[in-house]
Amino acid sequence: MEKKSIEIFNKLNEAYPEKIEFITVRDPFRFLCAVILSASSTDREAMRAEERLHERYPDPASIAEASLEEIGSLIRSAGLYRNKARSIKSLAMVVVEKGCIPESIEELTRIPGIGVKTANCYLVDILRRPGVIVDTHFARVVYRLGLTTTNDRDKVYAEIRKSFDETMWSRLSMTANLHGRLICKARSPECDACLLSSICPSRASFS
Ligand code: SF4
Repeated sequence: MEKKSIEIFNKLNEAYPEKIEFITVRDPFRFLCAVILSASSTDREAMRAEERLHERYPDPASIAEASLEEIGSLIRSAGLYRNKARSIKSLAMVVVEKGCIPESIEELTRIPGIGVKTANCYLVDILRRPGVIVDTHFARVVYRLGLTTTNDRDKVYAEIRKSFDETMWSRLSMTANLHGRLICKARSPECDACLLSSICPSRASFS
């Protein structure tokens, strides 16, 4: 592993709290619903929508039986509600059929609407297994820091998995994501306040 990658990892690791949770609901099924709902929405709105859904349909069996219209009406505020209703219902049907939530990326991503990012969120946050979570914040930060050669999410996923030790994936996913939300923002990164400014190759372009 490159020395610079280790330095970035260590600095982010020290700067941010040990426990970082963007979706705070801990029930595994509800967590996955909330992650599905968070696509193109805020985490807060996703959790509000999930709560409304949970109040009306408290378990996978009741969601599996519900109509897409009923589910959609409860989650409309999270946006893209038709697609999200389909994904949540598909997930519920799989859980009912199997009697549990699948635990591998391969099985999870076979469920319509669950992509690699959502599957890795589940691995990292709920199963406590190594995973790389590439969302818009993470992709932006690692690209600006020169840890990846592109901000194409699929390639970022492959490059980070290759260049970092597996034991570092989950922690880097959370710290780089938080750094992107707080400091290395999309439009106006706060480079003067950034702990990585002395080693960041993008620093000059934001002066
Ligand atoms: S120096 Fe600026 S561009 Fe580089 S990581 Fe920090 S905030 Fe982002």
